[in-house]
Amino acid sequence: MAYKTINPYTNELVKEYPTATSAEIEAALEKGDALYHKWRQEPAAGRAAKLHEIAALLRKNAEELAKVLVVDMGKLINEARGEVELCAIIADYFADHGAEMLKPTPLSSQAGAARIEKDATGVLLMVEPWNFPYYQIMRVFAPNYMVGNPMILKHSSNTPSSAVAFEKVVNEAGAPAGSLTNLFLSHDQVTDVIADARVQGVALTGSEQGGSVVAEAAGKYLKKSSMELGGNDAFVILDDADLEQVLEVAKRARTYNAGQVCTSSKRFIVADNLYDEFLKRLGEDFKQLKPGDPLDEKTTLAPLSTASAKKKIQAQVDAAIKAGATLYQGNQPIDLPGQFFEPTILTDITRDNPAYYEEMFGPVAQVYRVSSEAEAIELASDSHYGLGGIVFSGDVKRGEKVASQIETGMVFVNTVLYTLPELPFGGIKRSGYGREMSSLGLNAFVNEKLIVSVAKPDLDNAAGALF
Ligand code: NAP
Repeated sequence: MAYKTINPYTNELVKEYPTATSAEIEAALEKGDALYHKWRQEPAAGRAAKLHEIAALLRKNAEELAKVLVVDMGKLINEARGEVELCAIIADYFADHGAEMLKPTPLSSQAGAARIEKDATGVLLMVEPWNFPYYQIMRVFAPNYMVGNPMILKHSSNTPSSAVAFEKVVNEAGAPAGSLTNLFLSHDQVTDVIADARVQGVALTGSEQGGSVVAEAAGKYLKKSSMELGGNDAFVILDDADLEQVLEVAKRARTYNAGQVCTSSKRFIVADNLYDEFLKRLGEDFKQLKPGDPLDEKTTLAPLSTASAKKKIQAQVDAAIKAGATLYQGNQPIDLPGQFFEPTILTDITRDNPAYYEEMFGPVAQVYRVSSEAEAIELASDSHYGLGGIVFSGDVKRGEKVASQIETGMVFVNTVLYTLPELPFGGIKRSGYGREMSSLGLNAFVNEKLIVSVAKPDLDNAAGALF
């Protein structure tokens, strides 16, 4: 398996990278393990300054770093700049709050003075996807850097240049060797690394299929794991929603990053009274998107990341139509050499249509008509996934009530779905398990170690004693 940067706008092979050798893997594990033991002797607060330096370097080199993303996977230059800035925000946040979050938690117990300490556990492997090549690394890197867990990165085979660029920033900031080591691992080598005794956990963001293989290996070798997988998020539009506000968010929610976001709104569930107008206006908004060079500021529709991504979504749309879905708009070829897919709207998708339960990773909106709030909630929850979701209502309290009833990991009411370091990110069902970011993400790979102490034993008071 080759790691290649192929520019999805020009289709040019920009650079190819060799797969990691066994010697490189062993060196990375050794370095990481040595750093883990060194970090155990040092307070977390001491690592904050370096994380701030990483944020500063990201901002200083933002333009150059953003261009690497554009060439690697085709996103719009402005969105790429936004991704670099978001990474800096995450690094600064964990630098500012990580040490506080890692402070011991005192417990009240009759056994004695009790507390939970939060210890590092060892080297982690992170397996990351191509859709936000820097941000996905940073979600794991920043909190675990503060915890003191050194990391090995295995990035997508189609975004190797982003992996190299991120690792370079970490090294140039002067983070100790082994903090983050990028390795171009094959799938088999991923399993070998998970099996290694020095590795204590694996964090994967990616597809359900990839997640299942890596989680299986983690289970086999009894390593902690977190899985951030796909989604088929609902965007619920209740009958009292303000359509102008809805439309401001809806186009972006489906076409940002060319629709290749785990939390893109993939299913629009619209109250009967707003359905026709919503469909018409969403269609008009989609038609305004301009495909072109993602480096050109005027372009508003980026190509998909790879030729195979385009082929996959085309096959899904074809299958959906064949199974009875109505093509409301789109699905026409775009006369440009890059991997463009015309923003498409499908309606009349029945439960037996393959599209109903599948994640479509590109600019394809499914629009459903519902006649009650209860029907909207039921449809929103009727998914094998459960990652994010959006609810729009003229009454925030009603929106929140509906949000509480949807089976999913995150819901935003009357706004776009945000990802910020203080907010936990993650899902349920086939969207995976565990959370990244916030204190929940920071604690994902810590040893919550219990320490109980007394001046001398009091064996008359031995309720609960294990002897
Ligand atoms: P993917 O094919 O699963 O790849 C993700 C990562 O897993 C890549 O590094 C990939 O390496 C690796 N991988 C895949 N199969 C593997 C295996 N059998 N053994 C070891 N490693 C394996 O997913 P993707 O297509 O890159 O990403 C898109 C998916 O990610 C979508 O489903 C999206 O919803 C999801 N996603 C989820 C979140 C979240 O936070 N929940 C965020 C972003 C994206 P190779 O490239 O070498 O195959």
